[in-house]
Formats: sequence, structure tokens, C-alpha cells
Amino acid sequence: FGSLAAKVQRNPSFSTLNSDDISYFKEILGEKGVIEDEEWLATANTDWMHKYKGSSKLLLQPRSTEEVSQILKYCNSRCLAVVPQGGNTGLVGGSVPVFDEVIVNMSLMNNIISFDKVSGILVCEGGCILENLITFLDNQGFIMPLDLGAKGSCQIGGNVSTNAGGLRLVRYGSLHGNVLGLEVVLADGNVIDMLGTLRKDNTGYDLKHLFIGSEGSLGIVTKVSILTPSKLFSVNVAFLACSDYFSCQKLLMEAKRKLGEILSAFEFLDSKSLDLVLNHLDGVRNPLPPTMHKFYILIETTGSDETYDRQKLEGFLLHAMEAGLISDGALAQDINQASSFWRIREGIPEALMKAGAVYKYDLSLPVEKMYDLVEEMRTRLGDSANVVGYGHLGDGNLHLNISTAQYDDGILTQIEPFVYEWTSKHRGSISAEHGLGLMKANEIFYTKPTATVSMMASIKKMLDPKGILNPYKVLPHS
Ligand code: FAD
Repeated sequence: FGSLAAKVQRNPSFSTLNSDDISYFKEILGEKGVIEDEEWLATANTDWMHKYKGSSKLLLQPRSTEEVSQILKYCNSRCLAVVPQGGNTGLVGGSVPVFDEVIVNMSLMNNIISFDKVSGILVCEGGCILENLITFLDNQGFIMPLDLGAKGSCQIGGNVSTNAGGLRLVRYGSLHGNVLGLEVVLADGNVIDMLGTLRKDNTGYDLKHLFIGSEGSLGIVTKVSILTPSKLFSVNVAFLACSDYFSCQKLLMEAKRKLGEILSAFEFLDSKSLDLVLNHLDGVRNPLPPTMHKFYILIETTGSDETYDRQKLEGFLLHAMEAGLISDGALAQDINQASSFWRIREGIPEALMKAGAVYKYDLSLPVEKMYDLVEEMRTRLGDSANVVGYGHLGDGNLHLNISTAQYDDGILTQIEPFVYEWTSKHRGSISAEHGLGLMKANEIFYTKPTATVSMMASIKKMLDPKGILNPYKVLPHS
């Protein structure tokens, strides 16, 4: 973290907090909404990976859109920088201050506003925790179109702001498709009501898309309207082993072709990822006999006809076995076993955290090239690091993670810019789903042309002329 912060200078045009500011915030939020407690602030200043650390002296907890509006209006007039914070599970240093930015924490805006059972449209506040929405919808016979390992802490406003992809994107598509409307508060406190609940609305520019994936740099998401699919009761999960990467790719092609509409997840991990999970997480075990396989695939199917779906999946697995695409496999026999298979895949980030320091790269790459990068990185780093590859193979999304005992600038210079150059050379994206945050703001040009970045900067300037919203993130800083 040290070297990253050293690259960024505090913008001298931002004011520093004074006692009048605190008094004003107490007036609008009450004592309880104004947090100066050191322990609380220490947590909110530190990101999930313990890699990025700010030094904010103030965390605000609004309870309504009106309060968010009042906060931003005031901060804008005083030129106080702000970092919007959801569940603080972001992985690119976007959710914590770089210096002394005021943290606007959305946790108390956690109400479900409405749910329409006929259309499946949920409207809720931005601070709702994803898992709570999943539970709420489950009781209504619906599911969220996104799911991810951080569901217990991350918030829908954070998900929207990072355009989180997750484990079901292969089936339900991205939030650009599923989010129907947003309410956002701009830097100057203006509330923009785009909270439509219509599937079709072609009246002019669809501005909500600007905020999906803007990582809190254009506005604070206070309300979300989202289309949710019906819950289908026949879910099957298989954990499979492949002896080489080519087989993983062929298996993906076959799964799309043979499982078709019931395929709901296609995740992959290499043997080093599995080892990490088995070594660092309690109660996780390998469902397959302990033979050494190079790759593992988790396939989930979701459909409405148990017999038909099971037959379809079993037929596919038999075919894959006969074609030599899978060398071993287990089909979950009940929901507990299915969860234990998922725990392996979802537990990888946690296991990496427990193993020490981790350099995380979240890349979109052509599927056939993806694993070459992992192997090249291994050759490059030798014994100095444990290089693991896993991710959402069905979406062409590799999580390349490099685990070391501690953060080390020497190792970092061997990884970067090599990893970005490699990705750019193969016309990939340096951020598939985590965003740019502080970590990759200056690397945007590896994926986006200069003219596109200039247009983004103009939009930022128009919506946030003083640049108070999440400064030093997303767009390049000099
Ligand atoms: P935060 O981390 O608090 O913030 C993230 C960014 O959004 C910051 O820039 C912040 O300023 C901004 N922000 C937050 N709330 C708001 C708001 N209301 N309005 C405006 N801006 C806001 N991501 C994936 O895409 N797919 C995955 O599969 C995935 N798996 C993960 C697994 C684990 C274990 C972890 C720790 C993270 C994972 N992530 C994944 C990262 C992902 O970005 C976050 O988990 C999630 O989307 C962020 O939500 P959050 O509420 O924690 O946001």
C-alpha cells in the first residue's frame, strides 16, 4: 500500500474538516449519524484486503436520500472530499479514503421499498445487504440475478457502483441488463430520480448506465430498482476434475451446447487454488479422491423439472467422461453437498487472505489464452510467490492471484506492468468486474483509448466539477 499512496498527492484544493463541519453534520444527522470513534474509523479506513488504508477522521451515516443530499450539498460547498462506502468488500482500494476524505457509509439505508410479484421487480435502498435481499426474495419465490462470495457484507448500492458480475452472470447477464432504475445523489446534492420500474423505456439517453460501474465517482446510489428472476426449484451442482486447460475450454463449449438453458454457473479453479482452500479454511474438504488433477470445474444447473434436468446433466457428464474431458467428478446429492462444493469456489478469496499478502488481478481475456498468463507468471516469479488462477470461465473472466508472505515492491515490479501489457496485447480488460478504484486508475489506458478516457473525464467534470466524489479513483491522476 505504501508505494501506491506515495504515487498520489492529496489534492490541495480540498478543505480539511473543522469543528463547524462536525456541528453541521450533527444538526442534520443527529449525534448517532456522525461517527468519530477511532476504532470504528480504523475499520472503515481499511479495505477488505488490508492493503489500502486512509486516514479519515469522520464517518457519516445518512438514513435517507434527503440526508445524503444535505451531506453532499454541504461537502461540495465546503470542498470537502467524500468517499461513498457500502459493505467495504471492494478489491481495488475504491471504498476507503486515500487521505482524509469524509466517509459516507450507506448501511442505514437498508429498507426494501416494494416488490412486485407479477413482474419480479424489487425496489430497495442502496444500503441493503445482498444476502438480505436474497433471503427476502427467497421467501417470495424469487432470486437475485447476481450472487457473489461477499454477499454477507456487500450492499446492492456497492454492487451497482462496481457493476459486480459474480457467479450467475453466465445465466442472467450483467447489472446493466438487470437494473431497471436508480436514484442517485450528485456531488452538488441534486437528487436524480431515474428509479423507473419499466423493462422498456426509450425516452432519450439512459443515464442510469453512467452510474452502474462508476465506483462512487459520479454520484451516490440511494435507491435501486432491479429485475429478479423466479426461483426455480431444481438446482444441481457438479464438481469436476480436468487434466488440462484445453479440456476445461471444451467442457465449457459442450456445457453451453448440451445444457443450454439450464446452465447457471460455470466456474473454474486450478489445483493451487484448491490446495489453498483445503489448507486454510476449516471444514472444507475435497469431494474427489485425492488424486492430483490440474483443474477443477464447478457446474450449476437451474431449471424447473427435476427429472428432466437431472437426466440432462447426467447425460452431459457421461458424454464428457467418455470424450475424456473430465477425469473425475462428483454430483451433489443434496443441498448441503451442493453448498459444500460452492464453499470451495467461494472460499478462495478468504483462503488467499489467510495465506498472507495477495496481489489480485481481475482480467477479461479470450478464454483460450487465459491460462497462458497464469503459467507465464509462474515462470516469471519462480519460488518467490504462489500464483493461482480461478474465476468465471463461462464469462471469460480470470482471477489471477499472486500470494506472498508479505507485500514487497520487488515482486510488484515483476508483476506490473507485465500483467497489464499482456492483457492489453490480447485485447482483454484489466478490470473484468472489480473496477479500477485506486489500484488501477492510472492503468485505464491499457484497456480504454485516450479519446474514451477524455470523454469520461468530461462527464466527471460536468457532474462533479470540484471532483469531491471519490477522488484519486477510477480516472487517471497525474
Ligand atoms: P464497497 O466495497 O463499499 O465499495 C465499492 C465501490 O463502490 C467503491 O468505489 C465505493 O465508493 C462505491 N460505492 C459503494 N456503495 C456506493 C453507493 N451506494 N453509491 C455510490 N458508490 C458506492 N466482485 C464481483 O464483481 N464478482 C465477484 O464474484 C466478487 N466476489 C467477491 C468475493 C469476495 C470474498 C470479496 C471480498 C469481494 C468480491 N467482489 C466480487 C468484489 C465486489 O466489488 C464487491 O464485493 C461488491 O460489489 C462491492 O460492494 P460493497 O457494498 O462492499 O461496496
